[in-house]
Amino acid sequence: MKGADVLPILSFALSIKKEKILVSLDNEIGDEAARTITTLVREREAGKPLAYITREKEFFSHSFFVDGRVLIPRPETELLVEEALAILEKRNDLRSVMDMGTGSGVVGNTIARLSLRSVLCVDISPGALDVAQKNGRDSGMAERLTFLCSDLMSGIKKGRKFDMIVANLPYVAEHEWDGLMRDVKEYEPASALLGGPDGLDIYRRFVRLLPDHLSEHGFVLIEIGDGQGKKVAELFESSGLNAALKKDLAGKERMVRGSWTDL
Ligand code: GLN
Repeated sequence: MKGADVLPILSFALSIKKEKILVSLDNEIGDEAARTITTLVREREAGKPLAYITREKEFFSHSFFVDGRVLIPRPETELLVEEALAILEKRNDLRSVMDMGTGSGVVGNTIARLSLRSVLCVDISPGALDVAQKNGRDSGMAERLTFLCSDLMSGIKKGRKFDMIVANLPYVAEHEWDGLMRDVKEYEPASALLGGPDGLDIYRRFVRLLPDHLSEHGFVLIEIGDGQGKKVAELFESSGLNAALKKDLAGKERMVRGSWTDL
């Protein structure tokens, strides 16, 4: 466990803001709080991710609620949001937005907050949608967000189209599973991570549904893993989409953008 994890654990257990912890170190800690701190430190040492202990994770400078029902938001997913915001800012004609595989809801929530669009947040997991809804309420975004429990587009009327579909679906390949950090494997929902033998089973199903749900002038943005770019671009192209690949700050293939027309 890193020393840096101690401060958030203290802050959470004592209900004192992180910035105020250092000036409150002279205060007496009650027995119960001391026991709580010990328990939480042990949990962290056993590998439980810090975000599940403190029940929060920052994404795009906002703090969101998380628990074991959702994947912890990753900093690299901010790229997906940045790209969506850049397109939406330039193209005022693009109105309807979908966040597919919303999980904790941070992608749809942040797009709604910063682009002022309404966003439909979709997930197959009712537990994840509970978390996404809570985040919607807590952030004051509830009016701009709608939630739908659905296996990909199965709950969407055929022919209902969106101008922007952003998706962070499971894409970890089976052979990569063993190499993931123990904290991830033991604590995060595998169903939000695993995408079959090459990781692309779910994206293959998803891309096939786009002709019915992505508008003519719309954009689809998906997060991928390093090394999947070529295959995903081919997948897009086989459905008639133009595809462009983007790397993250670490130089890893991270996102594919698709459109029927422009790019
Ligand atoms: N990037 C995630 C990881 O850390 C994977 C997210 C996903 O499968 N959508 O493993």
